Amino acid sequence: MKRGEAFYEGKAKILYTTDDPDLIIQYFKDDATAFNAQKRGTIREKGIFNNKISEVLFTLLEGKGVPTHFVRRLNDREMLVRRLEIIPVEVIVRNLVAGSLAKRLGLEEGTPLSRPVLEHCYKSDALGDPMVNESYILGLGWATEAELREIARLAFRVNELLKEFFDQRNLILVDFKLEFGRHHGKVYLGDEICPDTCRLWEKGTLEKLDKDRFRRDLGRVEDAYQEVCRRVCS
Ligand code: UDP
Repeated sequence: MKRGEAFYEGKAKILYTTDDPDLIIQYFKDDATAFNAQKRGTIREKGIFNNKISEVLFTLLEGKGVPTHFVRRLNDREMLVRRLEIIPVEVIVRNLVAGSLAKRLGLEEGTPLSRPVLEHCYKSDALGDPMVNESYILGLGWATEAELREIARLAFRVNELLKEFFDQRNLILVDFKLEFGRHHGKVYLGDEICPDTCRLWEKGTLEKLDKDRFRRDLGRVEDAYQEVCRRVCS
């Protein structure tokens, strides 16, 4: 598959056209940002780990009936994906209290939730991804009621599948972010699923094996990505 022009560059990825208008190439960079891009850095080989981890997780989900944009991994840093019309909403699923939820409600990190919590944020770096609800999403015309129902169903299904998958690898899936888009009228899961977008804690010790090591200067950042990749890919 021949790489065409770069038509989008984000914080962690670059998207390229291909000679097929339905397909694009997603290139994974080593760049990392946090706190709405106020903190910037590089995590050596993060792009390679995230590409491989996403490949395994998308393949698992596809096999269980979740439509994803993933087609195939091309090389260390590139995967071929379906071109989606991205719905401008970050969909967050939480199993334990952490991060912005702990802060917003003054709760202790690690507090269990009696059932998974679904959260929506408007995808806007300029505004710092503000939280919105389904009424906003419908009122602003970002998605239809049917699409929102499908997104919620898929998000909870992804949570069940990934929670079990990580549990078998001695990792707790604390929370994660998904993005969805349309392709020929159907809703697909897009973006990536990796330690940049998931919180993963070691069972027992609760050691963080995700981007919080970078966000909070916990050290051994590369090791965490490598370790998650080892467990996910073996
Ligand atoms: N997340 C993400 N991108 C974002 C915001 C959040 O991938 O722009 C992920 C984050 O890694 C975590 C989950 O979504 O796994 C919930 O993040 P939270 O709302 O707690 O925000 P944070 O603490 O990362 O600011």
